[in-house]
Amino acid sequence: SKNNNPFKKLNDEIFVYVAKKQKEIEELRRIEQFRREFLADVSHELKTPIFAAQGFIHTLLDGAIDDEKVRGKFLAKAAKSLDGLDALVKDLVALSQLETGEVKMHFERVDLHEVVGEIFDQLEKIAHNKGVSLKVRTDKPNGTWVKADPQRIVQVMTNLIENAIKYGNEHGKVLVSLEEDKKNILVSVKDDGPGIPPEHLSRIFERFYRVDKSRSKERGGTGLGLAIVKHILNAHKSKITVMSKMEKGTTFSFKLEKTD
Ligand code: ADP
Repeated sequence: SKNNNPFKKLNDEIFVYVAKKQKEIEELRRIEQFRREFLADVSHELKTPIFAAQGFIHTLLDGAIDDEKVRGKFLAKAAKSLDGLDALVKDLVALSQLETGEVKMHFERVDLHEVVGEIFDQLEKIAHNKGVSLKVRTDKPNGTWVKADPQRIVQVMTNLIENAIKYGNEHGKVLVSLEEDKKNILVSVKDDGPGIPPEHLSRIFERFYRVDKSRSKERGGTGLGLAIVKHILNAHKSKITVMSKMEKGTTFSFKLEKTD
């Protein structure tokens, strides 16, 4: 009968082996492709601020330095480009460490209400300059404790709140809500800004993806903020969701496991 055919068994084993190897090759190709694209993206993003700073500095050296008005202006622009470069490199390091799983999370008891208060203090100035009001609301006034890596959760909340201010309207409102269900604290960051067009919604968590390139760069964005948010929440076994309505605003939400 068929089952007694020694070649059949060998044939099956070879088939399984080849299929496995093909899968491994595919996976390696995918990683290689990702690496290549990442490198191309990164070089492009690095070039922009470097070229800009170079341009201003060379123009100064070529004589503009003698004009007192131009001097200050060009130096300020060169400095701004280099600040952008600095922010970009910092975000890149953070993202690559998160992507390779190089960093360990240090889970502790964290009070989210307190975290939001500290971030509001830090962002007060840029909010004030834009006339934006910052509010936090909770149905758990006695403590919104979660298990989280404090530093990373500060980064998540800062990125989301900063975006809400940056991309929201002048004189707009930013509301952070902390609500509880059985197991979790539900966090949401809501603005009443112009919103994100639906065709872009699924892509804003990709590295360097920006809805409006020039506007994002002008506002000092690296294009990595939401990619970092996604990775950090992933390491907390949590997922970020976004809802947006044109002319009404945008809400980002996620859950974290609560603790006493
Ligand atoms: P960036 O550094 O450009 O802010 P992010 O990864 O933080 O990068 O955000 C990606 C893009 O998503 C932004 O460039 C912006 O176009 C869009 N975006 C993020 N948050 C908001 C928001 N609250 N309202 C409108 N658009 C937003």
